[in-house]
Amino acid sequence: MTISKEIREQVQQRANYACEFCGVRETDVGGTLTIDHYQPQSKGGSDKLENLIYSCACCNQYKQDYWNTDESSPKLWNPRSELYEKHFIELEDGQLVALTLTGEFTCKRLRLNRPPLIAHRLQRRRQAEKTRLLEQYQDVVLSLTQLNTQLTNLVTEQQDLLKQQRDILRALLRNQQDSF
Ligand SMILES: [Zn+2]
Repeated sequence: MTISKEIREQVQQRANYACEFCGVRETDVGGTLTIDHYQPQSKGGSDKLENLIYSCACCNQYKQDYWNTDESSPKLWNPRSELYEKHFIELEDGQLVALTLTGEFTCKRLRLNRPPLIAHRLQRRRQAEKTRLLEQYQDVVLSLTQLNTQLTNLVTEQQDLLKQQRDILRALLRNQQDSF
């Protein structure tokens, strides 16, 4: 059976236009990604939405038609039903470390530590850090602008008070001279 255009678009949107296995986005590869059957069609998998995963060509190719037919064979991580954080942790150097047996098997099978993917994670980290620093910078600029306004207001207030002080002193002096 072929997957209809509507279903394809739903899978694409649901995945936020990124590979559900490795996170690579359409904008990273400059094109649409592929639709993977979590349970392969050759192993009885359906074309239903819950069995479809938006996947980059690389992950799809490495996964092939893997399916754990019995309890003793390792299970592949299902990004549609299990949280990424449950199975993997990403290190600062971009390496992915498996936390579970499923994670370990998936990491090996889909080559989730393939060098271009590690480079991609590092690039994404750098981009996130740059965004964070830019936001921080904007916050500081905003605080400085607010402080400047407050400072200008304080100086104006100080000048007013000094003028009042002078006026009162003059009046006092005049008052004293008049009394002699
Ligand atoms: Zn992928």
